[in-house]
Amino acid sequence: MPRIADRVLQLGTETALDVLVKARALEQRGRRVIHLEVGEPDFPTPQHIVEAGVRALRDGHTRYGAPAGLPELREAIHPGAPDRVVVAPGAKPLIFFGILATLAPGDEALVPDPGFPIYASMVRFCGGVPVPLDLESPAITPRTRLVIVNSPCNPTGEVVSEEHLRGLAALAEKNDLWVISDEIYRRIIYGPEPRSIAALIPDRTIVVDGFSKCYAMTGWRLGYGVFPRPLVEPVTKLVTNSVSCTATFVQRAGAAALLMRPPEVDRMIAEFRKRRDAIVKGLSAVPGVSCRSPHGAFYVFPNVTALGLRSSADVADRILNEAGVATLAGTCFGNEGEGYLRLSYANSLANLDKAVSRIADWASRLAPLPTGRYRA
Ligand code: PLP
Repeated sequence: MPRIADRVLQLGTETALDVLVKARALEQRGRRVIHLEVGEPDFPTPQHIVEAGVRALRDGHTRYGAPAGLPELREAIHPGAPDRVVVAPGAKPLIFFGILATLAPGDEALVPDPGFPIYASMVRFCGGVPVPLDLESPAITPRTRLVIVNSPCNPTGEVVSEEHLRGLAALAEKNDLWVISDEIYRRIIYGPEPRSIAALIPDRTIVVDGFSKCYAMTGWRLGYGVFPRPLVEPVTKLVTNSVSCTATFVQRAGAAALLMRPPEVDRMIAEFRKRRDAIVKGLSAVPGVSCRSPHGAFYVFPNVTALGLRSSADVADRILNEAGVATLAGTCFGNEGEGYLRLSYANSLANLDKAVSRIADWASRLAPLPTGRYRA
């Protein structure tokens, strides 16, 4: 058999899909599993966006379009500077293209830890070295070229503070770094909309955003990046070389979403807020679990170390097998996630209540903890 190129051995993946497979196997054996592992809204795409997509199909928007995106969508995304916008099938390709365009082999990239695992995977694939980003004291070396920020953050739901953003912006200026600001959860927020680091250092920041989460459009595949001007042409060439363009009827649906904010979005966010409050309250009442109330996204990231199990992977496995609730170990998001679980509350309030009581029952059946030792 011919050899497989080494570079693909560097690729990581998203463990949510592995957990989903394990959960499905249990379900095939007749177990009822509550799914809190998957990171996508459980709401349908708002009606007028669907209508705009269907209308575009009927009107014959079924051909290749401009690689950087349709002018009307680019204009709706950034009316002040549509020429800085590049559209792609999802936010993910834009993160990938942004890293490809800025990181040379051997360069270091600071990535959130715990953070979206695809950042480190893509950095490695591009020959770079991912270094965990410590917001209090970032580890800058002469090889550091790029910082990735994600606010609100997957998996914690936390928003990066104004003070930390200022610190990172100053660091980027001083050390001549690029910044990728992944703002895909920007609109799913339970307080004032956070400021973007792009407001501080527009010439070195790539803003990545998309329609998957806020408009419940994960399957449509539509995202965009706002790039510093020198990066627009190389990134557009990456689009041409890989996907040619993004489906034009999908882009028309996206433009409809931006031109009239669908009322469903506000209802979805209000519902997410109720669920967040319910799951935080429920989990905080479980002995051994402590859970902060995050400011955005639809994830909670409780600390489970006081349950006394060996690792968060152990806790996630046991909660799946013994309580029938699918969650992700914090370590799916980096070493700093040890001691935590990620639960997505993109599920009904009734299911969240049931999940919390199953976890509480399971935790109450754990043997008393011998001091200073792990449970078997
Ligand atoms: N960025 C973050 C932080 C995410 O959590 C996700 C999806 O889970 C993405 C990007 C990918 O979004 P898209 O569906 O637009 O590719």
